Amino acid sequence: MRNLIALFACSLAISTASANDPPPAAAHAAASHGASKPAAAEAAKEPAPASAKPSAKAAAAQALSEADAEAELSAKIAARLALMRANQAARLAAAAKARKVAVTRREAVAAITQPAPVRPFHSDHWSYEGETGPANWGKINSAWSKCDTGTRQSPIDLRDGMKVDLEQITFDYKPSGFSVVDNGHTVQVTVGGGNFLTVQNRSYELMQFHFHRPSEERVNGKGFEMVVHMVHKDPEGKLAVLAVLLERGKGNNMIQTVWNNLPLEKLDVVNPNVVLDVAEMLPQRRDYFTFMGSLTTPPCNEGVLWLVMKQPMQASPAQMALFSRMYPLNARPIQSSAGRMIKESN
Ligand SMILES: [Zn+2]
Repeated sequence: MRNLIALFACSLAISTASANDPPPAAAHAAASHGASKPAAAEAAKEPAPASAKPSAKAAAAQALSEADAEAELSAKIAARLALMRANQAARLAAAAKARKVAVTRREAVAAITQPAPVRPFHSDHWSYEGETGPANWGKINSAWSKCDTGTRQSPIDLRDGMKVDLEQITFDYKPSGFSVVDNGHTVQVTVGGGNFLTVQNRSYELMQFHFHRPSEERVNGKGFEMVVHMVHKDPEGKLAVLAVLLERGKGNNMIQTVWNNLPLEKLDVVNPNVVLDVAEMLPQRRDYFTFMGSLTTPPCNEGVLWLVMKQPMQASPAQMALFSRMYPLNARPIQSSAGRMIKESN
């Protein structure tokens, strides 16, 4: 029986061994099992205990049954071992599966918590207030980043200009056909071709003009009730914007002609059967400020030559009131001049 106990202890030791090496364990168990037979035979040779009957036949029978019991126990142990190994293998497989599930879950969680990849954003909606207002223009559309990051933005407060003998701007404006649209940001007038201004030896053709209320520009901190921006373009596509400040006073003929032809609906285009004389928008004195700036609406492109007439023009209170019913506020706030040179007529 000592052998059986040793065998059982041995099998327990095997059962705690890794399931990774079942063949040696099986071999070990088989070897132990094999070793039990000689032991049983040896036991059969031993003299029978004093208490036993001295019959050689009975002793042989006892030895035989003991050997059978031993074999039976060995078989049980082997079966038990196989079961334990199977259980261990199942536990290891379950642990491996759990690890895999955990990794998959971690990956899933990571995918949820990681920031989405940056995609180009491209809303075209902007305004002068709230979430789509000037402070956020650069974030609304990736093509409008200059509104945020530009260093030559408009409008600016015109102060500390360098007073020099600025050359006169040459205007070549004439009565022209036009169309009017309320584009959702302002009233814009597109003018027929052939209206030019020339400055610094470069001619720019008038494309369109539009209105802001209050004026976007300031002069030494002073704002005006409105401003007209006359957008010109040279053959290379460079822009020059002439700004004419508007203050309350007598009515302006050209403005009245535009107001007379306002479309009833936003984005509808009116093509009046009359002409417009843009020269009526020019003040008598032709002194001006000049600096390099940008469009004052998205996409805020820079490289725009600004020409701001020093003498404001007038519009009647009724003309002012009419525009303010459509656009009480459509002016971009003042931008940093960022050390830009401002020149002004002496
Ligand atoms: Zn403008």
